[in-house]
Formats: sequence, C-alpha cells, structure tokens
Amino acid sequence: MADILNEILNKLPDKTKISDAQFEGANIILYTKDSDFFLNSNGIIKSVVDIIKKRIELRPDPAICLDPETTEDLIRKLVPTEAGIASVLFDPQRSIVMIEAEKPGLVIGKQGDILREIKRKTLWVPVIQRAPAIKSKIIENIRGVLFENNDYRKKFLHKIGKQIYEDWTSEKQDMWIRISFLGAGRQVGRSCLFLQTPNSKVLLDCGINVAAQEKQDMYPILDAPEFNIEELDAVIIGHSHTDHCAFVPYLYKMGYKGPVYLTEPTRDISALICLDMIGITEKEGRNQIYSSSDIKAMVKHSITLNYEEVTDITPDIRLTFYNAGHVLGSSLIHLNIGNGLHNLVYTSDFNYEVSNLLSMANAKFPRLETLIMEATYGEKGKEPLSRKESEDYLKEIIMTTIKRGGKVLMPVMGTGRAQEVMIIIEKMVREGQIEKLPVYIQGMVWDMTAIHTAYPDFFNARIKKAIFHKDQNPFLSDIFIRVGSRKEMMEVVEQKGPCIIVATSGMLTGGASVEYFKNLADDPRHSIVFTSYLAPNSIARRLQDGEREFVFPQGNKQEVLHVKVDVHSIHGFTGHSTRNQLINFVYNVDPRPKRIIFVHGEASSCLDIASTIHKLHKIETLAPKNLEAVRLR
Ligand code: ZN
Repeated sequence: MADILNEILNKLPDKTKISDAQFEGANIILYTKDSDFFLNSNGIIKSVVDIIKKRIELRPDPAICLDPETTEDLIRKLVPTEAGIASVLFDPQRSIVMIEAEKPGLVIGKQGDILREIKRKTLWVPVIQRAPAIKSKIIENIRGVLFENNDYRKKFLHKIGKQIYEDWTSEKQDMWIRISFLGAGRQVGRSCLFLQTPNSKVLLDCGINVAAQEKQDMYPILDAPEFNIEELDAVIIGHSHTDHCAFVPYLYKMGYKGPVYLTEPTRDISALICLDMIGITEKEGRNQIYSSSDIKAMVKHSITLNYEEVTDITPDIRLTFYNAGHVLGSSLIHLNIGNGLHNLVYTSDFNYEVSNLLSMANAKFPRLETLIMEATYGEKGKEPLSRKESEDYLKEIIMTTIKRGGKVLMPVMGTGRAQEVMIIIEKMVREGQIEKLPVYIQGMVWDMTAIHTAYPDFFNARIKKAIFHKDQNPFLSDIFIRVGSRKEMMEVVEQKGPCIIVATSGMLTGGASVEYFKNLADDPRHSIVFTSYLAPNSIARRLQDGEREFVFPQGNKQEVLHVKVDVHSIHGFTGHSTRNQLINFVYNVDPRPKRIIFVHGEASSCLDIASTIHKLHKIETLAPKNLEAVRLR
C-alpha cells in the first residue's frame, strides 16, 4: 500500500474499521464492513480530508451491501415514478449502484433525502445519471462499456492512483517544464501539444486534420524525437472536434494504456466522432487508421471530470477544466505544475461570448503564468459578422430560398454549430419570424443532438431555464425530423417544397453533406450555407472562393459537377472567439500571464495576433511552428 494510504489510516481514530483502501485515480476510497461507521462518519472523514487535502470517500465493503435484486426493488419503491428511472446498474466491486433517470432531481429528493434513504436501507452508494431526452445509442453503449469493464477499471484506476502518489511528498526545486508543438503550430487541424517535466509526460489534445492534402500532414507528429508512447503518462482532451480528439484511439492501438482526461460530454461525443470517421473511411474504401475496439479502449481508459474539479494526474501536475464555451463539454485546461511553481492554461478552442447554447469562456484562474491560446480568427480584417447580423443573414437566405421553392443545405460539424443552428431555427419558427418548415437532421447530427440532451447542465442559463422550468426543450421541437437511411435521404432530395437540411461534414470533406451537395448542386433554387471554419483546399473553401466546377470519381469514371446553387458563408455562429474577443480575453484574463503562445490559426493569424498582443501589453508572445519547443521554466 502506498504511503499516503497508510498515512490516512493512521489519522483515523480506529483504523480497524477500514477493510480496504484503494485509489480511484487521484481519489482515495476507503471501504468499511461496519454499517454504522459507513452511515455516520462524515465528520471523521472530513477532518482527515482537511489535513491530507485529497478527496477521500468512504464506501461500504461489498460484503455488507444488500443483494442487488432487493436493492433495485427498494430503489423503485423509494423513488417517485415521475423520476422516470431508465435503468439500475450495479458495480459490485465498488459498491456503487448507478441509477439512470429522466429527472435526476426527483431521485435525489429534497436536500438529498431520498438518496440518503437509499444509502441507509441498502448500504450501496447511489450515483445518479441523466437519461437523455432523445434516446442515444452511443450513450447506452458507452455506459455499457464502462460497466462491462468494472473489474478492469477498478484495477486501472488503482494503478493510476499509485503512480500519482508514488512521489507525492517530494518537492522538486530544480524543476524544468517544456512544451513541444506536435500539431496546430501556425495551422488549424491536428492539435497536439506535448508537455514534459522531470516527472511527467502529457499530451494536450490529439487530433486529425481531415482537410490535409498529404497524409503526413494529417496526424500529429508523434515521431518527434522527444516523444515516446511508452513513457506517456496522460492525455487530456479539451473538446470533441476531430482536429482535437480523433487521434486518441490510435494511441491505444499503438499500446498506450494510460488515462485520457475529459468531460463526460467530450467523452461521448469524441467516441461518436471517431466511430463516424472510421465509418466514412470504410465506405470510401480507404485504410482504417484504427478500429472500433481502439475507440472502446479510449472509453475504457477515460477519466471524466466536471468543470472546476481539481485533480492530480501525475506526481507533479494538477488538472482543472473550466468552461470554454466552444462546444458542449469543451474545456480550458488549467495545469498547476510542481505544486504551484508554474501554472499553464491551454484554451484548446474557446468562445469569449455567450452563444445560443453555451455560456462564455471562463477568464479567471487561481494562478497563471503561461497562456496558450487558439488564434483561428486572429488576423485583422477577417472578423466574422456578429451573432445578431449572422442570424438576420440566415433568416434572409431561408426566406429567399423558401420563395424560390428551394432547399437550404447546411453542412455542419456534428457538434457545436449544428445545435446552435437548430436552436436559432427553432426560435425563428416558434416566434413566427419564418414559416414552419421541415428541418431534416441527418443521422450523425441527430445522434450528437441526443447526447446534448443528456447533459443540459452544460448549457447556458437561458436554455437551462427553458428546459428545467418551462419544459421547453428546443431540441424536442416537432420541426426536426431524423433522416437515417440512404432511402430517406433520397426522399428528402426528391420531396417537393422548401425545407432545411442539416448534415455533416461542415467542409464537404465526406459524409452525408457531400451526397446532398452532389444531388442539389445543379439547381439554382437551392442554397448552401456554410457556418464552420473552411480549411484551404476543402470543397467548401473552394466553393466559397468562387469555384463552380468539381470533379468527383464515379466508379471508374470522373463526373463533372456544375454548381448552380446559391453559396453563402456565415462565420458569425462560430464557436471561436473573434479577433476582438481574443483581445478582450487577454485584457480580462485574471491573473495576467507572463507569456502568451498562439496556436491553432493559419500562420498569418497566429503572427498577427501575437504581434498585436505584444504591442498592447508588452508581454512575451510566441507563434511557434510545428516541432518547435518552448521551455516554460
Ligand atoms: Zn473545435
């Protein structure tokens, strides 16, 4: 048993009450066979937490838990039926009973009285999860994978804890910290940063650049001399976009067995994005870089955190996520390194503005020396429209297209813009700004939206209020119609009358949006509206730049497509901060950092914003290229 566990046991008045002590990642779990001690020792445990400053949880030893069948009966009797219990699952190794319900608040009860009653009568630890309002196969699968692997996970989490606490009392004054850019240096796509200290090796984001022309530009540069997958301690994912998360399963394929830290929505959406990506490459007959079992391995090794929950991830790095406002579950990553010696924030992608779905990115941190920021819209003169202007523009496009009897095709990334656009259209229809029309949501976007309905706590205050207090969930509106099969897709293409189609991918790099595009492109009544960042050379970018002739392989032949649809780009729904918002963020970020590093922008954007911020604040700014490294301390 590692020292910290002994130290905790020695601090208890009577350590014979404890039958086992285990790590669950950085958390410490004590088990007891004494039911009175389990139910009445909050004060004792709290006093030990105050001294050790680590999270300690007391659980009943599995030997004293009531049998699962009687427990489930009791739970269903104690919880009111309106709570809508979807499932009751048992994790007997950890004495946890997972209750999935449509209304978690009703399972918890007033001031937690129902939960307390469940605990007292069954001697299990109840954990509540929200059942998504729209049924989600992926969430069922993910929760299933985690439960099937209870035994493995218990051992895995204990091993991680042992590694974290191996050295936990030693102070390192001679500490150095170094970060290398294995992707996202002066480019958008394949974000991947590699952080090293004498004790830790950690990856921040690990994505794929799907728009890359050459294969070697698609993936993070893992053959950098400093990187060795066998020495990697942890992976941290800021959010669930392909260019930030989609390469993680490959790490598991290559033998990585450590943890990936992310929020619950990021875990679920990332898994779906990776599955979708290998589905598309399979259809296109290209080589798979990994299989669904590698995606399963990612889920199996995931450790989820809520915003502002502090956790140790290695002996000298403490991680905290903060809201990034970019997509559901997106996080700014705060790392406290060497017990406060150096504090780093990596923004991944962030939005310093309230969106229709999310609240604005957090800008206050306990400590901060180095800030690593995205710079997608860092270049002067490339500012997108405001949200209001963008909404008006979209409304105008929809109304004109309706008048022509055409269809509006909106290629989107599965998560983020898609749900933002759905909320805007729902509002326009509900408020009578546009006539009611069907909005076809392609399968992948639908599945993403379903995941959104499992995590309403991550939405901004306005949407939360509509869902929790007015029972008005915009995603459940009857204007949204799911399109699954190819047959249904063709029915949408052939249907008479106006409609809106929302489909992936956002840059026409693959997926259903390309199929719709091919079918609708030659009819000038239709409109196509891009709302995402459009990478150079993608079909979408070429369309935006005025190209109107495209060649697609059709069997052995080449098919030439003459584009006659109305093409529009609206960048104001972006989940990224505009140039002004980037500048405002630096003004407001508290405390003020000593150094700012810009990544995730085309070279001109990174360089432009780096020089602007340097002039404004007289602090060191950098815009590293890929494979450059910076010593932070
Ligand atoms: Zn993103």
